[in-house]
Amino acid sequence: ARPRLVVVGGGPGGATAARYVAKDAAGAIDVTLVEPNPTYVTCFHSNLFLGGLRSFDSLLHGYEGLAREGVRVIHEAASAIDRDRRAVVLSGGGRLPYDRLILSPGIDLDYGSVPGWSRDAEDIMPHAWKAGRQTQILKAKLDAVPDGGLIVIIAPPNPYRCPPGPYERASMMAHVLKTKGRGRAKIIIVDPKEKFSKQGLFQEGWEANYPGMIEWMAPDISDGLKSVDPKTSTVVTGFETYRDAALVNVIPAQMAGAIARQAGLADASRWCPIDPDSMASRMDAAIFVIGDAAIPGDMPKSAFAANSQAKVAAMKVRADLIGARAFPARYANTCWSLITPEDAVKVGGRYAPADGRIREVEGFISQTGEPPALRRATQDENMGWYAAITADIFG
Ligand code: FAD
Repeated sequence: ARPRLVVVGGGPGGATAARYVAKDAAGAIDVTLVEPNPTYVTCFHSNLFLGGLRSFDSLLHGYEGLAREGVRVIHEAASAIDRDRRAVVLSGGGRLPYDRLILSPGIDLDYGSVPGWSRDAEDIMPHAWKAGRQTQILKAKLDAVPDGGLIVIIAPPNPYRCPPGPYERASMMAHVLKTKGRGRAKIIIVDPKEKFSKQGLFQEGWEANYPGMIEWMAPDISDGLKSVDPKTSTVVTGFETYRDAALVNVIPAQMAGAIARQAGLADASRWCPIDPDSMASRMDAAIFVIGDAAIPGDMPKSAFAANSQAKVAAMKVRADLIGARAFPARYANTCWSLITPEDAVKVGGRYAPADGRIREVEGFISQTGEPPALRRATQDENMGWYAAITADIFG
C-alpha cells in the first residue's frame, strides 16, 4: 500500500503542503486533505476589500486544483487526533489512518481576552480576523459610519496573525471615509503594545494622507483597555470612555487552532513548538505543524510564511515516506501593507534554522520618505504576489 499523508486545514499552509506532496511524489504518496469549508476566503487582501479595492468574490478559492493534482479532499472537520494509533477522527465519525500528518488549522480567537466582549457579541463588534461572513459584516458597518462618526479598533497583543494587519486596516478605513465624504470621522486604535509593525511608515503615511483621522493609543497613553459594552457601543480605557462608537472592531488575543491544542501539540504559550529543520512538532515526530498555529521563531504569522513552511514540511514528508532527497530548510516572507491605494510598504526577510529556532538571515523594510513611484511599484508587486501565491496554494 502507498504511504499515507493526511493534511488538516485547507488554508495557505495545509493546501500548499497537500498540493506539493501530491505533485512532487507523483502518486507515490496517498494524500488526503481535511477541510470543512468548500470555499476558502483569504484574510490576506481582505483589507483591500474593506478599502473598496477588491471584490469579495476575488478573495474566494476552491479546492478543484488540489483534486486535479490527485489530492483527496474531504469536506469535514477533524474532531480529534488519535496520536497513539496515528489516525485522524472526522466530525462525521470516520477515521483516517496516517503515516505522516500535517496540521495547519490556523488560529483560534480568545473570546475571553477582552472584558465585556464574547462570541455572542462578534456580529455587533466584529473581529474580521477570520475571513468570510465577518469580513462582510465589518465592511457593511464601515460603509454605514456617518461623517463625524467614531471607529475604535482594539488591537491584539503579540503574537498574532498578520502583525501589520490592524494598521493597514485603519489605513483602508480612513481611505474609504476620506474619499466618500466622511473625512470628519475618527479612528482610535487602542493598543496593548508599545510599538507595532512598520510603525514609522504607517505614522508617516497617516499624517500625510489622513491628518487628524487616526489616533494610535499606546498603553501608556490609553492606560489600558478596561472593557467594552456591545449594547451601548462603548469602549472604556483607563484614560477615556468612548461612547456611541459607530463601529468597534475587536481583534482579540489569539492561540493555535483547537485541534492542535487538543492533540497536545501546544506548549504553555498555546502555540505549537516545532523543529526548525523540518516543521515537525516537538511533541510528535510523525506530525508537522505549519502556518499560524506554529511557533515560527523570527517569522511572522502570515500567508507567505505558511506557504513557505508548507514547502519545507512537504519536502520532509517525501523524504520520510518515499526516501526523496531533502535539502536544508530555508524560509522566506514578505508582508505588503497599503497606506493608500497608491502607497504600499513592505517588510520581509529570509530565514534558516539556527540555535534550535527559525532565525532571520537577512531582512528588508521600506524606508520613510520614499518617492511615490516606488510606493506604486510596491503596490504592483503586492497585487502580483496575491495572484502568484493563490495559484501556488490552490493550483
Ligand atoms: P488559515 O488560513 O486560518 O487556514 C486554516 C484552515 O484550517 C481553515 O480553512 C480552517 O477551516 C481549517 N481548520 C481549522 N480547524 C480545522 C479542523 N479541526 N479540521 C479541519 N480543518 C480545520 N498574510 C500575508 O502573507 N499577507 C497579507 O497581506 C496578509 N494580510 C492579512 C490581513 C488580515 C486582515 C488578516 C486577518 C490576515 C492577513 N494575513 C496576511 C495572514 C494570513 O491570512 C494568515 O497568516 C494565513 O491565513 C495563515 O494560514 P494557515 O494555513 O496557518 O491558517
